[in-house]
Amino acid sequence: MEREQYLAAIKPRMPEKRYIHTIGVMETAIELAKLYGEDEKKAETAAILHDIAKYADIEWMEQIVRDEKLDARLIGWGSELLHGPVGAYIVASEFDITDEDTLNAIRFHTTGRVGMSRLEKIIFVADMIEPNRKFDGVERLRKKAMKNLDKAMSACVRHTLAFLIDTKQPIYPLSIECYNDTMKREESEG
Ligand code: GDP
Ligand code: FE
Ligand code: FE
Repeated sequence: MEREQYLAAIKPRMPEKRYIHTIGVMETAIELAKLYGEDEKKAETAAILHDIAKYADIEWMEQIVRDEKLDARLIGWGSELLHGPVGAYIVASEFDITDEDTLNAIRFHTTGRVGMSRLEKIIFVADMIEPNRKFDGVERLRKKAMKNLDKAMSACVRHTLAFLIDTKQPIYPLSIECYNDTMKREESEG
């Protein structure tokens, strides 16, 4: 499917604001793909579809986790943690997307994971720095993203974890594993 078809498919599933966010992620992901030699079309597709499940019914998403035997730890964490993994399931079943890298980029866009691919990092970072994001420190993250994808990834993960701790929210195991992985890599690369 093409860009316009994917956009038409996601538009009715989300409020206007989320749609505008999605366009921002798409443009940023394409820019990063060009910069780091990733497949631009894959980046475009994953970005358009990354939040497809954001407003899906929680009960339904938990049922999908059980029926499709997704990570059982997801039960009880709510839509913020469910929409990535369930989004990957939706795009695989509704749009016949079989490219595992594209599916993983959608699946892990909220938490990250150990050993992320270039495409996964691009979607994770683009999601945080797209032009409509407004939070303290976003400009610094944008600059990093244009210089070094791994360093930007690590800074984005640290930002999310610091935010979660500050706001007294529980941290999902994959988020911690991703943080440890990025920090160990940074240490070994110096
Ligand atoms: P969005 O869907 O574009 O808003 O962005 P994300 O999918 O990256 O994140 C959705 C929400 O999940 C954000 O509010 C994050 O702060 C939150 N989030 C990310 N990781 C975790 C986690 O480990 N635990 C909890 N409780 N929330 C998280
Ligand atoms: Fe999301
Ligand atoms: Fe998003």
